[in-house]
Amino acid sequence: MTSRTSTHHGNYLLDRFIEAQGSLGSPDIHGLQLMHGSDPFDALPSRDFIIFPTTAVVAAQTTMPDGWISGVSVIGRDGSFGMASFAHPAPVRYRYRTVQPGDAIAIRWEDLEPLYQSPRIAPILLDYLNYVVQELSVQAYCISRHAAEARTARWLLAVRARSPLPVVHVTHEMLGDCLSLKREVVAGALTRLATLGAIEPQRGRIAISNPRALRDSCCTCHEVDRLWEMKWDAKMLVEREGLEPSTPAL
Ligand SMILES: [Zn+2]
Repeated sequence: MTSRTSTHHGNYLLDRFIEAQGSLGSPDIHGLQLMHGSDPFDALPSRDFIIFPTTAVVAAQTTMPDGWISGVSVIGRDGSFGMASFAHPAPVRYRYRTVQPGDAIAIRWEDLEPLYQSPRIAPILLDYLNYVVQELSVQAYCISRHAAEARTARWLLAVRARSPLPVVHVTHEMLGDCLSLKREVVAGALTRLATLGAIEPQRGRIAISNPRALRDSCCTCHEVDRLWEMKWDAKMLVEREGLEPSTPAL
């Protein structure tokens, strides 16, 4: 764990905060290197942190009262996680698992709390929370209405859009937890996507060999994902790298 002080961190949400506020004040900023499968909070002295991934991608999951694990979302360079436990000392417990290994930034909640009450930050935070709520409602619809193959394709694209890595690091078990599917159903969906030439499943990882075919295999919920992705993809590429907005690198 190291401390960092630069103004642009490569996380859309955090960098929008800095732009709006001028600075973050003087918070203690911790750089994390997250390993595949790890709980990002295990690298920290406590859970009193908000985590902003930059190149890492993390899956949020909940454990239901009957023990069933339900996937919630994936979070990467577009957002943050950890705030729910401060907002509601909650009946629903979230757990986090690193999908794509990479970097993240952690800031103590006590350092961010005053910032979150700033009138400059409120519209940015509301914009992000609006996305999160929309994502949760789409997720409920997606689970109840769409086929495992289409949902698997959508999930793989959501992870890939947030990561610079050429493959998605995931096992059947993790994919099953993230999509609330049994392992044998996941295996069948991956086989069908591989038969289409969209992916090449390897041991513990999945290469996306034909992004267009994978997109064509997605349910319509992918269009909602794309509206959000285009927002941060355009901003980060144009402002940070001087490039034109495009489809996230696939
Ligand atoms: Zn869907």
